[in-house]
Amino acid sequence: MKKEQYDVVVIGAGPAGAVAAAMLVRKGRKVLILEKMHFPRFSIGESLLPQCMEFLREAGLEGTVDQHAASLAFQYKDGAAFYKSGAYTEFDFTKKFSKGRGTTFQVKRADFDKLLADGAEKAGAEIRYGHQVNDVDVKVQQPILTVENEDGVAYQVECKFLLDASGFGRVLPRLLDLETPSNFPIRQSYFTHIKDNIDDPSFDRNKILITVHPKHSDIWYWLIPFDDGTASVGVVGEPEQFNDDYGSNDELLNAFLRQSPNLEKLLANATLINPVRTIKGYSANVKRLQGGNFALLGNAGEFLDPVFSSGVTIALKSASLIAPLVDKYLDGEQVDFEADYSTPLKKGVNCFKTFVTAWYEGGFQDIIFYQDQDEKIREMICSILAGYAWDEENPYVAQSERRFKVLVDICRTE
Ligand code: FAD
Repeated sequence: MKKEQYDVVVIGAGPAGAVAAAMLVRKGRKVLILEKMHFPRFSIGESLLPQCMEFLREAGLEGTVDQHAASLAFQYKDGAAFYKSGAYTEFDFTKKFSKGRGTTFQVKRADFDKLLADGAEKAGAEIRYGHQVNDVDVKVQQPILTVENEDGVAYQVECKFLLDASGFGRVLPRLLDLETPSNFPIRQSYFTHIKDNIDDPSFDRNKILITVHPKHSDIWYWLIPFDDGTASVGVVGEPEQFNDDYGSNDELLNAFLRQSPNLEKLLANATLINPVRTIKGYSANVKRLQGGNFALLGNAGEFLDPVFSSGVTIALKSASLIAPLVDKYLDGEQVDFEADYSTPLKKGVNCFKTFVTAWYEGGFQDIIFYQDQDEKIREMICSILAGYAWDEENPYVAQSERRFKVLVDICRTE
C-alpha cells in the first residue's frame, strides 16, 4: 500500500490536537489531523481557565476566540464561585498571584472546538474529518497509521512524529498497552444544557458556580452559564450514589438538583434543551506520555477530574510544551521527551491532583470557605484555580502537597 508522508500526524482535532497542529504549521511543518467525527460535534468541558488563553495566544488563536466570543455566545468568565450549605465564596481570577490573563470564557465546545480546528486549518494544517485511526506501528523509525474513511476505505499514512490527541478515544494507550489505572475512584456525571431562566439579580453569570451537595460533600454540581440565556448543568458523584431508581437520566438530574436548595431556587424556571447525558469512569492515566517518536496530549494522556475545570488547560499546556520539542526533533536535534515534555507537564498536573484529592477529602472545601484567609494565600490559591499550575514562583505550585496540608490544618484548627 502506498503511504502518504507527513512531518507530523495528529490524531484528533479537539483543543489539544488543533493547538499543537497550529503551532507546528506555523513553524513550517507539514501537519495532518485525522478526526473521526465531523465538526461541530458535542463535547463536555465548557468552562475554560484563563491560563488557556496564554496557550491560545502562543498558537495564534487567542484573537479568533476573542473575536468570535459574542457571536458564539461564549460567556465572559472572570472567576469561580462555590456554594455549600448556605456559605458562598468566590474567587476573582483577575486578583491572582501569577502574571497572565485573568479572564476567559465559558464555551459551547461544539463551537469552540470548531473555531480552533478552523484556525489550525487556516494556519496551514490539513484536517480530514470522518477519518478514524484504527492502528499504529511505532516500532519503526517513522510511525505508520492505518486509517479508515467513512466509505470504509483503509489507507496508510507515515509521519516523522505522531501526536495522539484523541481524548477519551485514547488511541495509543489502548493500542500500545499504555493504560494504567487512575488514582481516583470511578466517578460518574449526569449533565445537560438548559434554558436557565435565572432571574436572581445576584447571580453572577461571569463565574462557574460549583455547589456542594448539602448531605454528601463528595457530590457536587456545576452550573456554567453561557451568554445566550442557556447554561450547562451537571452533577458528579460515585456511581453507587446514583443507584436509586430514578427512571430516566432526566429524572435523576432533576431529583439531584432539587436536593440542593440553592440550585432548586436558582433553576426554578429552567427548561431542558437536550436529554440528560451521562459519562462514567473518565479519570484515566498512562504508563508514559511519550515514546521517542510519539507523544500523548491532553486527555489521551492523563485525565484527573472535572471539578476545577482543568481538562482543556492541561490539553493546551501539553500542546504548548510538545510543539517546540517536535520542531527541534524534526530539525534532527537530540530531544529528551521525558525530561522536557513529560516531567514539566506532570508538575502542573500533579498540582491540580493535589487540589482534586483535597476537594474530595474535604480539606480544600475547608480552605475555600474559610472566612479569615490571608489575602496573599488566597491569591496563590486563586492562581491555581485560574489554571496557572505551572508557575513555580507560586509556593502552592512549587510545594503543593506540603503547603496544602499546613493550610488545611490552619483552617480546621482556627
Ligand atoms: P477531546 O476534546 O476529547 O478531542 C479528542 C478528539 O479525538 C475528538 O474530537 C475525537 O472525535 C477524536 N478521536 C478519538 N478517537 C479517534 C480516532 N480513533 N481517530 C480519529 N479521531 C479520534 N475541562 C475543562 O477544561 N473545563 C470543564 O468545565 C470540564 N468539564 C468536564 C466535565 C466532565 C464530566 C468531564 C468528563 C470532563 C470535563 N472536562 C472539562 C475535561 C475536558 O472534557 C477534556 O479535558 C478536554 O476535552 C480534552 O481535550 P482533548 O483535546 O485532549 O480531547
